[in-house]
Amino acid sequence: MSDSEEELFEKRIKIVFVGDSGAGKTSIATRYCNGEFTRHYSPTAGVDFFLKSVRLGDSKNVTLYIWDIGGLALHGNMLDKYIFGAHVIFFVYDVTNMSSFEILETWIETIRHLNEILDMQPAMAILGNKCDIAHQRTVKSDKSHKFAIDNGMPCYDVSARTGESIGARIGDLVAQIFGIPTTKIGERGLQRSTGQDSIDRKQSKPTLQQSTLPMVQKITQKQAKKLKKTASNPMLPRSKSSVCSLQ
Ligand code: GDP
Ligand code: MG
Repeated sequence: MSDSEEELFEKRIKIVFVGDSGAGKTSIATRYCNGEFTRHYSPTAGVDFFLKSVRLGDSKNVTLYIWDIGGLALHGNMLDKYIFGAHVIFFVYDVTNMSSFEILETWIETIRHLNEILDMQPAMAILGNKCDIAHQRTVKSDKSHKFAIDNGMPCYDVSARTGESIGARIGDLVAQIFGIPTTKIGERGLQRSTGQDSIDRKQSKPTLQQSTLPMVQKITQKQAKKLKKTASNPMLPRSKSSVCSLQ
């Protein structure tokens, strides 16, 4: 691989959303990539796939490959393939649904195990979605913060409905991977396979201090080569039909 090819390869980031069905993973991805929200609920079968381009600093353009994993994948046999090559994994729960929070323990345990098998060290964070309906909250902030600290990862409240914190939280982790201050992150065009150009720019304060963010390794040339060797392209589903027919 030439230097310029290596450069290109390093500018692709795979982000994976996991968590219980109904927690809002698809809504978060849709809000982030398309700037849209719908109340209609259509469970994700297998995995859905989003793309977004962001500009880091003045010149670095990065393509985010977002894998939105259906909640049933936890008990399926495809999870390792879905998370393979991920640089960032978001564990999503619904702040109004205690069982979606409780099941995160199993998600985290399962994915930690797979990370070891796959020799991966993705950045990981917890997103408490639906914070716009605070009066229906059943998972108290204290509880989720303690859980996040115990698991060594940051935890943020977000809302796919209002867009609160979504761009900021995803942007933070991507910027960290490239060692760029978050204030310098910008966004340009974006697209989903069937999507529109629109950007969520709302930001709010994290619910944990920045200092609790895990250290995110830069993607080294060695890691990029390794990824290249082990899969033709872990960012992309092998074919749309094979992905859609899963589960
Ligand atoms: P997924 O199964 O995790 O992908 O969940 P979805 O994104 O499909 O969302 C499940 C349901 O929750 C849908 O009816 C959404 O409209 C609703 N929902 C998702 N995010 C939010 C949010 O931030 N606030 C509110 N009030 N509802 C949301
Ligand atoms: Mg979904």
